[in-house]
Amino acid sequence: MDELKQVLKAYGAFVAEVGAFSSELWFQWCSNCREVCCKPVYCRETLESPFLFLLSKNHSPEVFYSTQKAWLSETGCKLSIGRPPVCYEFLCGTILEAQQPGIERYAMIVLSKLISYIGKRALGSRHLIEVMDLDDLKKIKYSRFQKRLAEARDAIDVIQSYSRGHKLEKEHLKFLSKISSLNLGKGNSIIGNIGGE
Ligand code: SF4
Ligand code: SF4
Repeated sequence: MDELKQVLKAYGAFVAEVGAFSSELWFQWCSNCREVCCKPVYCRETLESPFLFLLSKNHSPEVFYSTQKAWLSETGCKLSIGRPPVCYEFLCGTILEAQQPGIERYAMIVLSKLISYIGKRALGSRHLIEVMDLDDLKKIKYSRFQKRLAEARDAIDVIQSYSRGHKLEKEHLKFLSKISSLNLGKGNSIIGNIGGE
């Protein structure tokens, strides 16, 4: 398998896992929501980015982009895999405010950033979805992508364990702060909320 195919396969599998886990967590809010947070301007990235185009073609060959509603249908997004990272990164105020301030809220923020994170610096300083030329896309090294994927894997393992009710120790924070760094110095409310300290 060439390196780009390896990246597409591993990326797609991780997106599926993050998407399913996030949907489960956010279902109670999103299922009753009357606001439409999807915007055609986000959808359009799937047409502009060769990487996203290949992803959606590989995983959802049966669905089509509509010039009026883009990927949005009556039942939500038609794309299971291939949505732009911003679609995972979008965490609305309603969901965020429903989380306990401190680690719970921080874990949700990290979760929302995982997909953006794995694509960063895929080729030089460019994000995977910013590589606009197919020949350039073929230069992407799987080993480079895999390093970020492993870091995101560690972070989601921590978040899933926390969501199952396991206590989060301070050493777990380093896995989360790799994805989204915060000032974790003394006096920070997140540190103060771990393990009831
Ligand atoms: S993310 Fe927020 S705004 Fe979007 S559907 Fe869910 S609850 Fe509604
Ligand atoms: S989730 Fe789907 S429909 Fe919504 S903005 Fe993203 S690509 Fe478009």
